[in-house]
Amino acid sequence: MLKVCNVSKVFNNTKVLENVHLDVAKSSILGIAGPSGSGKSTLLRCIQKLEQIDHGTIECNGRAGFMFQDFQLFPHMTVLQNLIYAPSLKDKSGKENCKKQAENILKSLGIAAKTSEYPNTLSGGQKQRVALARSLMTHPDILLCDEPTSGLDVSTTMDVVSLLKSINERFDITILIASHDLDFLVKISDRIILLKEGAIVVNIDPQKQDAPIDFLKKYY
Ligand code: ADP
Repeated sequence: MLKVCNVSKVFNNTKVLENVHLDVAKSSILGIAGPSGSGKSTLLRCIQKLEQIDHGTIECNGRAGFMFQDFQLFPHMTVLQNLIYAPSLKDKSGKENCKKQAENILKSLGIAAKTSEYPNTLSGGQKQRVALARSLMTHPDILLCDEPTSGLDVSTTMDVVSLLKSINERFDITILIASHDLDFLVKISDRIILLKEGAIVVNIDPQKQDAPIDFLKKYY
């Protein structure tokens, strides 16, 4: 589904990604762990082509969607407008279709009641659902999530686990998640890689690894 081969990325003469090699199976969930500044976001941004790589290749079979860390919802637009803004710019005649699609997605994520609300009236968990709904509007085959639980409390984090798992199963979407939250990553991921100074130093199946959190912590 996604092949990252010997990818390197340099910012200001510093190697931020170093010979990253990664093969992500279709429909799987990959967790990307690592200390702050280890290159997690940069890896996702390179896959989404928001950054150019300096070396290597990235092969992605399908469309990638990105869910930003701070949601990046437009504050002056309702939930529905947030969802249909970009798609209806591309296809003006299809606005009604976009609207229908947005309503269906909001319903499937359990936030149909918030359709006409503005982002500042939503909880962190609800904003997260809207951000996810907006990413799903582009019909991604791969969803790239940057720190999806940052700022959320424990119970909302557990909601995000079940939400992303259901998206993974229901829409058959491959998901990559960069997070500093090891407990969250172990619960949700089929595989976890750990980046350190831009290089992959661990690649495990958390269900087969004894005490995966303790194991991962050793590499921080
Ligand atoms: P993480 O997501 O693991 O916290 P990042 O990928 O955000 O790490 O950052 C990795 C390194 O790259 C950091 O040292 C960061 O300062 C640097 N970096 C990220 N984006 C840029 C940029 N646009 N310009 C210069 N340096 C950057």
